[in-house]
Amino acid sequence: MIMVLCQQEDGELHKVGLELLGKARELAQDLETQVTAVIPGVDISHLAPILIQHGADRVILVRHKELKNYTVEKYTEAFCQIIEKEKPEILLLGATQLGREIGPSLAARLKTGLTADCTQLEIDKETKLLLMTRPAFGGNLMATIICPNNRPQMATVRPGVFPLKNADVNRKGEIIEFIPNLEGKEFKITIEEIVKKVRKGTDITETKIIVAGGRGIGSKEGFEQLKELADLLGGEVAGSRAAVDNGWIEKDRQVGQTGKVVRPKLYIAVGISGAIQHLAGMQESEYIIAINKDPEAPIMKIADLAIVGDWKQIIGRLIQKLRQEEK
Ligand code: FAD
Repeated sequence: MIMVLCQQEDGELHKVGLELLGKARELAQDLETQVTAVIPGVDISHLAPILIQHGADRVILVRHKELKNYTVEKYTEAFCQIIEKEKPEILLLGATQLGREIGPSLAARLKTGLTADCTQLEIDKETKLLLMTRPAFGGNLMATIICPNNRPQMATVRPGVFPLKNADVNRKGEIIEFIPNLEGKEFKITIEEIVKKVRKGTDITETKIIVAGGRGIGSKEGFEQLKELADLLGGEVAGSRAAVDNGWIEKDRQVGQTGKVVRPKLYIAVGISGAIQHLAGMQESEYIIAINKDPEAPIMKIADLAIVGDWKQIIGRLIQKLRQEEK
C-alpha cells in the first residue's frame, strides 16, 4: 500500500497532499496496490471525500484533541502508530514546513531512509522499488535514490512539483477512524499561543501570472516597478535567490530549488540568468517571457519569448502601454 500523509490547518487541506495523491495513484497502478490518505486533526471528517476524489482508496482520520495544532512530537507519535499498524510499502509527504520536520523525525523512528525534495517518483519495472529522483551536488546532477532494505520507502515532494489533478466526484473510497494513544506519554513541547503572520498578497504558487526579478534589477526600488507591472497584470511579484539575498524581496517569494516551485500560466523573468537551481522552480510554467540584456543567458533558451535589452526600458514601456489600455 502507498500512504500519503496529508496536512490540514483550521480544517483546510494543504494542496500538496492532493498533488501527492494524484502521483500516488499512478504509482499504485504500477504496483497494483491501494492508496491510503492519512489526515490528522479534530474536525476533519469533511476532508475525507476530497481526499477520495483526488485518488485515495482509503482515508484514515487520525483524530485526537492533542492533534488540533501541530507539534512535531505528537504528530510523529500518532503517525508512527498508524504506520506501524498499516505497514505501507511507500510513504509520501509534502515538503512543507511540517513535512520537512516530521519526515526525518518519522524516518529516524521507523529506522528507514528518506529522500527529501524529490522531483520525480517512478516504480522500477523489474524490482518494483520506488525510484526517487532529486537534484544533487547543488543541482548539477539528478540522483535517483532507492531504499531496498527498509520500509517504508519515504519521500518528500515540494508543493507544485506534481500537478494538481482534477477531482473525480464519482470516486468511492473507505473512511476509517484511528484514535492514537497519546496518553501517559511525555511530550516536551507545549503550545502557549498561536500568532498568525499576515501574508502580503497571494501565495506565489497559487497565482496565474508571475513577474520575477533577479540580480539584474539592481535595487529594491527596481522591484517596485516589477510590482507595478504585476499589479497591472493581476499577478504577483517573485524573485531569484540573488534578489532575496540582496534583501530586495521576501524569502517566501523566492522561486527555485531552495524556494518555491511555481507553474503559472505566464512567468516573466526579468534580469534573471536562468541558473539550473532557478529553472528547477519555474520551467514547468505554461508560457515564459525572459527579459535580459545578454542573449546568451540560459533563461533565453528555455523562454517562449526572449526579449534582449535593458529591463528598465522594456518594463517601463510595458507599464505605460498597460496604463493607456486601462484608461
Ligand atoms: P545572475 O545569475 O547574476 O543573473 C543576473 C542576470 O541579469 C544576468 O543574466 C544579466 O545578463 C541580467 N541583467 C543584468 N542587468 C540587466 C539589465 N539592465 N537588463 C536586463 N538584464 C540584465 N537560485 C534561485 O533563483 N533559486 C533557488 O532556489 C536557488 N537555490 C540554490 C540552491 C543551491 C544549492 C545553490 C548552489 C544555488 C541556488 N540558487 C538558487 C542560486 C543560483 O545558482 C544562481 O546563483 C541564482 O539563481 C542567480 O540569480 P540571478 O539570475 O538573479 O542572478
